[in-house]
Amino acid sequence: MNARLAMTEIGPQRLCSKCDEWWPDDAEFFYQSNGKSRQPCKACYHQLPSVVAKEERRRAALKAVAS
Ligand SMILES: [Zn+2]
Repeated sequence: MNARLAMTEIGPQRLCSKCDEWWPDDAEFFYQSNGKSRQPCKACYHQLPSVVAKEERRRAALKAVAS
């Protein structure tokens, strides 16, 4: 089984592959795909260089539309 998943009395907790923090294994803390939590956690996901670059392009595009 997955060593990154732990069953606790407050529900399943998942270990993030990036920040090494345990988070509740649900859609609030992990993006879901096919009913499963995706790594890394949402907080880390938004720190990924590819995501940051995408977000910057999106903001630039919105700015271009608005002006
Ligand atoms: Zn994380």
